[in-house]
Amino acid sequence: MSDKTTTRFAPSPTGWIHVGNLRTALMNYLIARKAGGEFILRIDDTDPNRSKEEYVDGIKRDLEWLGLHWDRVERQSSRLEKYHDAAQKLRDMGLFYEAFETPTELDLKRKKQLNMGKPPVYDRAALSLSDAEKDALRAERGSGVWRFKLEHERIVWNDGILGDVSIDGASVSDPVLIRGDGQILYTLASVVDDTDMGVTNVVRGSDHVTNTGTQIQIINALGGHVPNFAHHSLLTGPQGEALSKRLGTLALKDLREAGIAPQALLSLMARLGSSDPVELRTEMSELIDGFDINRFGSAPTKFDAEDLKPLTAKFLQTLPLADVAEEVRALGVPDEQAEQFWSVTRDNITTLHDLAGWWKMFSEGADPVIEDEDREFISQAMALLPEGPFDADSWSNWTTAVKEATGRKGKGLFMPLRKALTGQAHGPEMATVLQLLQVIKARG
Ligand code: GLU
Repeated sequence: MSDKTTTRFAPSPTGWIHVGNLRTALMNYLIARKAGGEFILRIDDTDPNRSKEEYVDGIKRDLEWLGLHWDRVERQSSRLEKYHDAAQKLRDMGLFYEAFETPTELDLKRKKQLNMGKPPVYDRAALSLSDAEKDALRAERGSGVWRFKLEHERIVWNDGILGDVSIDGASVSDPVLIRGDGQILYTLASVVDDTDMGVTNVVRGSDHVTNTGTQIQIINALGGHVPNFAHHSLLTGPQGEALSKRLGTLALKDLREAGIAPQALLSLMARLGSSDPVELRTEMSELIDGFDINRFGSAPTKFDAEDLKPLTAKFLQTLPLADVAEEVRALGVPDEQAEQFWSVTRDNITTLHDLAGWWKMFSEGADPVIEDEDREFISQAMALLPEGPFDADSWSNWTTAVKEATGRKGKGLFMPLRKALTGQAHGPEMATVLQLLQVIKARG
């Protein structure tokens, strides 16, 4: 086989992908790009009832938004014949057997084993069925499931993140690879694909560690090449709480709709859980160059969606107007004011969604905030404020006049004016704010 580095991101299109999936996608993407190899988007859609085309489209949209371009797409639903061929090969080798237990029977077996203090591993009762018994069961219950007969020996691999891993084949139930209704299950489809497609590196979540043990045996049985595996830790919430239930709310499409910048999300996810610091990286090439899977730890990784906000804010500060011109225009900002609008707002927003609030303030005016002790002062100041439009010198001319008339200076002069004009104690440079303000409600 060729030694070109090949990785794949293999989501099942049964829902929207979330930050946990992104961790997997990104690591595989970065490994392929760093090595100048190939990154495959593999759609694991062997379950016809749960797979939906809208999710396939959603996955592609999310990856494109992030700039994680794939070299090709493969769909498991169009490769079923290959999986059946592999199944036949396993049957011919005597490594594949049909079993007929119902879920209730299996459950009962497990309970009995646990009661006796034994691990709940499938007892292989089906292996001793005679052909006649199988025919009778099939007539009664329909086709059975097909299980792969694991070698009862240690399965070892050197994991890119976990280090040396060893799994006792005898501690794992013979995996079901084909269901009673004929549906090919992920474990078989995945190894056939990884082998056929020359996948050299597989990064996935640590919930797949046991799968990897069984998959290594199946790959070896089928004469395939075992890829390098790395299993990243699962994400937890900021307090270490399980994130699995909340992942639904951390869908990439929701983060996109919330205004999170792809660069922020990529910068965080490409380094979170590694010994490298999380810093804003605006270029994919920086993420690629600095990526090393071996620098990731096996401990659960804390993820806090709040961290995406300062990174997004920081990213927006780097942008010239040209990059946001469309969004700015969509708010109704006249082109001749766009440059000024962006220059004062970009340091005062978390996401682009915040721009709407600023434009509302400039175009409709802000409700003034005036402290009791400043009432007289503000009315004097307003009397001195000329009619607009204002230019770059208007603010300084006005505040000089106000200072002379009232004797106020410094913060006592500027803060009440800012609050009267913008309704806020903080914000952009007032000299520019004044030029953009079309309505000054404090004029009364
Ligand atoms: N479709 C599988 C999943 O989403 C792929 C796992 C793998 O990377 O092998 O869990």
